[in-house]
Amino acid sequence: MPELPDVDIYIEALDARIRGARIEKAELKSPFLLRTVDPPLSSVTASEVARLRRLGKRICIGCSNGVWLVLHLMIAGRLHWNHKSGNVLASFTFSTGVLTLTEAGSQRRASLHLASGDDGLKAYDPGGIEVFEATAGEFDAVLRRENHTLKRTLTDPRLFAGIGNAYSDEILHHARLSPVALSQKLTAGESARLYASTRCVLGEWKSRLRTEAAGKFPEKVTAFREGMAVHGRFKQPCPDCCAPVQRIRYASNETNYCARCQTAGKLLADRSLSRLLGADWPRSIDELS
Ligand SMILES: [Zn+2]
Repeated sequence: MPELPDVDIYIEALDARIRGARIEKAELKSPFLLRTVDPPLSSVTASEVARLRRLGKRICIGCSNGVWLVLHLMIAGRLHWNHKSGNVLASFTFSTGVLTLTEAGSQRRASLHLASGDDGLKAYDPGGIEVFEATAGEFDAVLRRENHTLKRTLTDPRLFAGIGNAYSDEILHHARLSPVALSQKLTAGESARLYASTRCVLGEWKSRLRTEAAGKFPEKVTAFREGMAVHGRFKQPCPDCCAPVQRIRYASNETNYCARCQTAGKLLADRSLSRLLGADWPRSIDELS
């Protein structure tokens, strides 16, 4: 699922292409995509794009008439600019070009909501803090608000905005912390390290993705990036210590970690941990977001 770095790069690319542009046509190709009836989709036609912003993992396009288009790509939704490919769910014709939304597979989880004004938009904010706007103290307070595994805490959209399965693995590896350490048991030093690592990893990936896109519209958005330390790298060598990357599987999720770097060499038994993580995991993290 596109997370904070990917969504921010999408928004930067959209900002350069559609801010100030007129919306000539908004067309649904799949009736399941649109989850609200009021205001209607036709209400955005002929207005201009006034601003864009990210809300958690959502992409929000603000129109000059006060209506917001709120897109959640979920796992398989992707945006394309002047380029038709795949299973198109919606297309938006601007005076500057055509934006299409596609979704791979048949699950139909990507969504579009329309909201009236900034007050209407608030309904789509899960409430998590923006780590780049938070102080270390604010981060620490949110981290300890509930006692859960760090994996769940970081990916809970009610606590932290925009962090999902991929970047939480990378952040925890960078911070040298176990994915199943409990948030309220962290020392002050560990919490400070996690704060620094969260900002460092997300910031580094943002600039990396921006450099990769090189001004083009991001067309290669994936949860498995070359250059990630542990996420999606089961059995491959940890870039820092060369030990093989481990995994814990639970339901359709998988957490990757390095035992030498993060758990003092201890291998976390897959089966019992799956149970622990399974019990300490929102039924569907993606739906929560
Ligand atoms: Zn390692």
